[in-house]
Amino acid sequence: MNVNETLIRDVVAEVLGRLNGAASPQRNAPAPASNGCGCGDKRVNLASGGSISTGAGKHGVFADANEACAAAQHGFSQLQRKGMAARAKVVEIVKTLAEKNAAEWGRIELEETKIGRLDHKIAKLQIIKLVPGVEWLRPDARSGDHGITLEEYTPFGVVAAITPSTHSIPTLSGNIVNIVAAGNAVVFNAHPGAAKCAALAVREYNKAIERETGIQNLITIIETPTLESFKALCENEVVRLLCVTGGPGVVKAAMQSGKRAICAGPGNPPVLVDDTCCPTRAAKAIIEGASFDNNLLCIGEKEVFVLDSVADKLMQRMSENGAVKLNSPQLDRLTKAAFTIKEGQGGGCGHASVNRDLIGKDATVLAKAAGIEVPAGTQMLFAETEANHLFVQEEQMMPMVPVVRVKSVEEGIERSLQAEHNYKHTSIIHSHDVEHMTAMARALDTTLFVKNGASPAGLGLGGEGYLSFSIATPTGEGITNPKTFTRVRRCVMVDNLRIY
Ligand code: NAD
Repeated sequence: MNVNETLIRDVVAEVLGRLNGAASPQRNAPAPASNGCGCGDKRVNLASGGSISTGAGKHGVFADANEACAAAQHGFSQLQRKGMAARAKVVEIVKTLAEKNAAEWGRIELEETKIGRLDHKIAKLQIIKLVPGVEWLRPDARSGDHGITLEEYTPFGVVAAITPSTHSIPTLSGNIVNIVAAGNAVVFNAHPGAAKCAALAVREYNKAIERETGIQNLITIIETPTLESFKALCENEVVRLLCVTGGPGVVKAAMQSGKRAICAGPGNPPVLVDDTCCPTRAAKAIIEGASFDNNLLCIGEKEVFVLDSVADKLMQRMSENGAVKLNSPQLDRLTKAAFTIKEGQGGGCGHASVNRDLIGKDATVLAKAAGIEVPAGTQMLFAETEANHLFVQEEQMMPMVPVVRVKSVEEGIERSLQAEHNYKHTSIIHSHDVEHMTAMARALDTTLFVKNGASPAGLGLGGEGYLSFSIATPTGEGITNPKTFTRVRRCVMVDNLRIY
């Protein structure tokens, strides 16, 4: 062997040695077949130094929150190696399975939660295909005399997501599409009253993902979620971001956790109806939005303010289109059944709580509580009330909508603003006067503002736009999409690669 040959061999050996030693364990190395000790044990080393089971064979469902996080971190590493094609495949799997299983999963979710309507539970799964996926992520580029700069939307790692009882599998499925399209893994803490159906969907999604991509536990879930498991997720170091969908309690808890939180919080959407609108169109839209899944949607019409001059006509049209009007004694009976007011606290004080037994129940059930029988298929109930009535002030989440007469558009806007409680969630107007629309939009400053349509139009259902079941209101990200779950990273080439 001459000197040159020896030199070449040495250089090749050194380069290969460096490549093996320097490869990032997360990005470039092949999937670890073992824990590095050669025993073949399916465990993963964490940055913390701990060694936790990756949960092979669990299909994402874990009893322990920290194990669920570790497995999701391992899932994230696998997704990183498999690239954009694997993300797109996962999105396709989730959309396909949600649609294919809509009837069965909708029934299972309704049986578990006992809130909402079967037809709309099914519909909410069929529309997961409208949630944006990997196509949403387009890098931004700058080009000039000093070269080129690329800004890319890159993943955080593991996202912890908290889902509500009102739409458990739909929120979970929509979150997966957004979060995985952005390149992350996700660990879920579902609502305890809607956790079985969520775990079932996670299991099925993971089985298909593993079969199609080889990735295990990209989506994990705590089998029996509790406040403690929520706390454990918040404290786990692999969780980089929280995505919370729920009421005021969980939003507050997430914001106090010390982790960055994207919060899709509560709403109490007001509807303003003026005398320039089409009362028939307004009545139909109010019924469509407020009766959808028995008014469980956070965007659903919760109270109506209508100009006195058009109020009778609007209510007449509502009666003609599937809604039943309650009289004053019937309203009183239903109010007593629907709200609990603690001793020493009066109506309208904001401390009443909604009776969970009536949340999301059919109009026929609410009518019974009001002391009347209504025909099967009645879409919703309504009643004339004062502006400070509990049905106006509380997020009732049932198909019973209070209608309040106002003397002017200004009064209607003021009352809408008060009833919305600064959630900055959703508001709706029925009007053909652009000045009224503009005034209400400016005053309420809500994330969604729908004009002349039913509330779901704000999520692309009967209006233009895209869908998400998590509308980030207090934290301001708006209707969540894949970009919501990314870090922006900049890559700069100085003085080169600009090609003219
Ligand atoms: P909820 O607040 O009772 O529960 C939501 C989730 O938070 C559940 O997983 C629950 O277990 C958890 N949770 C509740 N309190 C918690 C706490 N203190 N610490 C940790 N976790 C806690 O709400 P829900 O009845 O399931 O859903 C209805 C509420 O969610 C309504 O207020 C509705 O407006 C809101 N919501 C908002 C959106 C949105 O996109 N903005 C979407 C759906 C529902």
